[in-house]
Amino acid sequence: MIFDTHSHLQFEDYENIAREIEIMSEYWVSYSTLIWSDYKSTEKALELAKKYDVFHVVAWIIHPNEAILITDMDEEISKVERQIMENREHIVWIWELWLDYFNLEKDWIEENIHMQKKAFKANIDLAKKFSLPLIVHIRDAWEDSYEMLSSSGFTWNIVIHCFTGNPEIVKRFLWIGKNIYIWFSWIVTFKNAKDIQNSVSMVPLDRILVETDAPFLTPEPFRGKKMNTSWYVKFVLDKIKELRDEAPETVEDMIFENSKRFYRV
Ligand SMILES: [Zn+2]
Repeated sequence: MIFDTHSHLQFEDYENIAREIEIMSEYWVSYSTLIWSDYKSTEKALELAKKYDVFHVVAWIIHPNEAILITDMDEEISKVERQIMENREHIVWIWELWLDYFNLEKDWIEENIHMQKKAFKANIDLAKKFSLPLIVHIRDAWEDSYEMLSSSGFTWNIVIHCFTGNPEIVKRFLWIGKNIYIWFSWIVTFKNAKDIQNSVSMVPLDRILVETDAPFLTPEPFRGKKMNTSWYVKFVLDKIKELRDEAPETVEDMIFENSKRFYRV
């Protein structure tokens, strides 16, 4: 069985959600976690999760690109808190802790980094409060992320989203603790993703999760041809099986168990 730990099937792109669920079951994809993209789409995701057992929801949270625009961080945090409290049974994660220093606007670099760190810290506190795991998006900010996570004292599960690092970075982040997971996405299927592929064998099997991020991009063999969807997680998993020494069934079973353990579902 397979668990797509990150998708956006609540988007309008998916006109026939019942059909999507049918195809998922044909490919043994038992669960898909719907990730917010804005307040409205979170409402839609919650609606779907209430209707279909295959879905879980990841809470809406402060986006790092918006952190700099927030005038009242406290008000923003309490808005998120209310939404979590009202829907706690369907919400399995806090999304998304993010340090992204890629392409920051020149005049605002210092302030931007400062606000991102502030949001990062606020999100850790929220996750602690509700005993929810964390998803961490890191781009060009490995050093600061490492510092903040390793000194946070956070003991619930943490996953490094859409891993784009290399084996050295894997080694370092695994040091943070037994609660660190690594998330492999469609990128691992690309021919030129050698660093990421080499990282797969560095991660203990009980710390790997797989995701599609559907509808964004698409794994091989459908890359550039079709819109990504949840059951394509199968191709991500197939690639991981190919890169690991363990028996393919062991890899599949273990990754499924990891996902359930991670979400506590
Ligand atoms: Zn996504």
